[in-house]
Amino acid sequence: MDGTTEAFLGVCRSHARHGTTRLLATSTVAPDRLIHRFLNKAKSLVNQPTGGARIPGVHLYGPFFAPSAKGCHPSDGLVNPSECEFRSMLDPAVVRTASVAPELPGAEEFAKACMESGVRLNLGHSHATFHQVEQAVAWGARHVDHLFCAMSDRARLRQLQTYPMRGGVMEATLCLDALTTEVIADGRHLADELLMLAYKIKGPGNLALVTDAMRAMDCPDGPAVFGPMELGEVVIKRDGVGLTVDGKALASSVSGMDQGFRTMLRATKAPPHLVARMASLTPARVAGLDSTIGSLEVGKKADFILMDSEWSIRETWVEGGLVFKA
Ligand SMILES: [Zn+2]
Repeated sequence: MDGTTEAFLGVCRSHARHGTTRLLATSTVAPDRLIHRFLNKAKSLVNQPTGGARIPGVHLYGPFFAPSAKGCHPSDGLVNPSECEFRSMLDPAVVRTASVAPELPGAEEFAKACMESGVRLNLGHSHATFHQVEQAVAWGARHVDHLFCAMSDRARLRQLQTYPMRGGVMEATLCLDALTTEVIADGRHLADELLMLAYKIKGPGNLALVTDAMRAMDCPDGPAVFGPMELGEVVIKRDGVGLTVDGKALASSVSGMDQGFRTMLRATKAPPHLVARMASLTPARVAGLDSTIGSLEVGKKADFILMDSEWSIRETWVEGGLVFKA
């Protein structure tokens, strides 16, 4: 979100050390001008060599989050789609996926604009009901951001209505076959049983691993700015995770895809090739890129990694070129 070439290249190179070959550069909640700065810079780097992972496009993530489900994102930048000139943000040359909380005013119009622009629609940071998620699927939503994190469930919705008990985003995501989802498998956000539950219900073809990492990855413990530098929203890196300053809430992850792979392998006891699929082909499909990346096949890009017997990254190759060697 700093909007500089150096910042983008730094992210791409850090993630390559952890075995990522392609990533959707992901925005955070911020004022319009900073989101446009981010989009412009990302557009100039789409599919370009970076010395690390390449950027096939961006995930427009925020500002359309529900205030009650904003997590560590700052409240000032949050906005309803109905109050925002979002069409100028949905440039199909750079935006591949966009997130919205479906209960917000204007969410349906936003979904419609995404479909018209060929942008894939995710649901996230939402306290919607099961029914509202079903409606959003009818609008074209096909993926839900970080399962279990910043979303409604039966227990939360019960505070609003005595009976019947209702399902929320969590239950809808697990139940609806139309929706793929993802887990932050850093071993800090979610206990092993939740990773197991997600794997068991969605399966390796519909569950992706996501790093959700912020700038403190590969940095020493201590304070770090979350989002654009000039907004100065401080979070703390401690105990292998990002935390809010008071230490009471999670504030994104600080680890890469290798950590996610190892955690998922341990938690699910799934065979390594199925865990690898959740870190490669499944996310490629979620991003609509599985015809060119995501698996080793004749005609696809030569993206691959080499791991050792401890599942640490030895080498990362992008489009036939070595970008990292341990
Ligand atoms: Zn989030």
